[in-house]
Amino acid sequence: MKKIKQSWAEPYKIKMVELLKMTTVAQRKKALKEAGYNTFLLRSEDVYIDLLTDSGTSAMSDRQWAGMMMGDEAYAGSRNFYHLEEVVRDVYGYKYLIPTHQGRGAENILSKVLIKKGDIIPGNMYFTTTRLHQELAGGKFEDVIIDEAHDPENTFPFKGNVDLNKLKSLIKKHGAPKIPYVSIATSVNMAGGQPISMKNLKELRALTKKHHIRIIHDMTRVAENAYFIQQKEKGYADRSIKSIVKEICSLTDGATMSAKKDALVNIGGFLAVNDYDVYEEARNMVVVYEGLHTYGGLAGRDMEAMAIGIKESVGDEHIKARIGQVIYLGEKMMHYGVPIVQPIGGHGIFVDAKKFLPHIPQDQFPAQTLAAEMYLDSGVRTMERGVVSAGRKPNGENYYPKLELVRFTIPRRVYTQAHMDVIAESAARVYERRDAIKGMKMVYEPKYLRFFQARFEKL
Ligand SMILES: *Cc1c(COP(=O)(O)O)cnc(C)c1O
Repeated sequence: MKKIKQSWAEPYKIKMVELLKMTTVAQRKKALKEAGYNTFLLRSEDVYIDLLTDSGTSAMSDRQWAGMMMGDEAYAGSRNFYHLEEVVRDVYGYKYLIPTHQGRGAENILSKVLIKKGDIIPGNMYFTTTRLHQELAGGKFEDVIIDEAHDPENTFPFKGNVDLNKLKSLIKKHGAPKIPYVSIATSVNMAGGQPISMKNLKELRALTKKHHIRIIHDMTRVAENAYFIQQKEKGYADRSIKSIVKEICSLTDGATMSAKKDALVNIGGFLAVNDYDVYEEARNMVVVYEGLHTYGGLAGRDMEAMAIGIKESVGDEHIKARIGQVIYLGEKMMHYGVPIVQPIGGHGIFVDAKKFLPHIPQDQFPAQTLAAEMYLDSGVRTMERGVVSAGRKPNGENYYPKLELVRFTIPRRVYTQAHMDVIAESAARVYERRDAIKGMKMVYEPKYLRFFQARFEKL
C-alpha cells in the first residue's frame, strides 16, 4: 500500500475574523501612484493580502488576549515584567532581561554599551536596523556569512552559517580586542530566512571562546531556525523545538529580540544578557531611551501577551504549521516557474527579482518594481529587499547587494491556504507578462533606512 502523506495543518481554529476591502485594478493603480510606488507608503486599507512583513502582524491567541486583561500598569515593578523575566529564563535561558519597545530599541542600547569607535562587528549577513545601530555607535559591520548565502539558487540547507575562515582573517587583521562581539542572527532575514546549524554555532562558540569574543544573538526568529535544525540536522530529529531553542541560546552570551516576529505579539522586544556588568550598564541606559527597566516602553499588558506568546512560539505543532504554510506557498510558486530563493526559508518566500526581471538593471530597482507590480495585479502587498533596502555606506556610496529580492512574508496564524493559492497565482500572472515591465527611478530619498519612505516614478 502506498503511504499516504500527512499534511501540516493549523493547531487552532478561527474565533474572530477581520473583513477585508476588495479593490479594482483602477483603484490600485491610483493608490500605487499616490504611494510613490513604495509598498510601505500604501494604506493598509487598500491592501487585500498583506505580506509586507511578519513583524507585529501575527494573530494573538485567546490566551494572549486574556493576558492583555491582566496587565499590571504600575510604573515600577509590574507583575507582568516578572512573569516575562521568568519565561525568558525558562524558554531561552538568558539570565538578565531588559524589555524594550521593539527590537531596534534593544539594538540601540546593546550597541551603545558594547561598541567603541573603530570596532569591527562581524555578522552572518547584515540586518537594516542592526547594522545601522552598530554604525551609529562607531562600529563597522563585516559580513562573515558563507558564500552560499549570496547565491539564491544554492540549495545548501544551512545558508545562515558563518564562514569561520572569514572570521579568523578578521581576527587576524584587526585583533580580537577590536571585535566586541560577533552578531549572529538565527533564521537570517536578509538571506531569505535561512537557518544556521547547531554544528556551525558550536564551532563558532569554540573559536570565539579562544579569543574572548562574545556572541550576541539576534533571536528574532530563533524558533523557526530550531525547526530547520530539527528537520535537517543530524541528531536533532527527536528533539523538541523548545529544547533546541534553549541549546542555541546557551551557545551565545546575550540577545536582542524583536518579539513582533516569533513571539506572536503586535509590539515588543527585549535585550537579554548573561553578563552582569553588561546588564547593569544596559539597565541604566534603558531609562534614557525606552523607559524604566521593568517596562522599557511597553505597557504591562504587552509584556503579559509577550510572555504567553513566547511559550506558544516554541510549540512543535505551532512551528510545523507555520513553516508548513510557507513551504506550501513556495512550492506552488516554483510549480509556476517563479524564481525563488532556495531552500525555502522560515518566514516567507523571497522571489529573485534579478532573475524575474533580468532586463531591468539594479539601479532601476527590479525588486521595488516587482513589488509594485504584485500589488497592481492582485492587491497583494510585498516588499523590496535589494538595493533600496541596502542603503548607502557611511561614505555615501550605494551598497549593491548581490541579492535583489522581493519578500512575500507570511504573518503567523493570519491567512489560509486559499490565500496562499491567490498569492501564487498572482505571482504567476505577473511572471507571464514580465517582459513588458519597465524599471523605476528614485525621486525622493530619506537619509536613514530609505526603503521605508523613498518614492519612485516609472521609467
Ligand atoms: C525586525 C527585525 C529586527 C528589528 O526589530 P524591530 O522590532 O522591527 O525594531 C532586528 N533583527 C531582525 C532579524 C529583524 O527581523
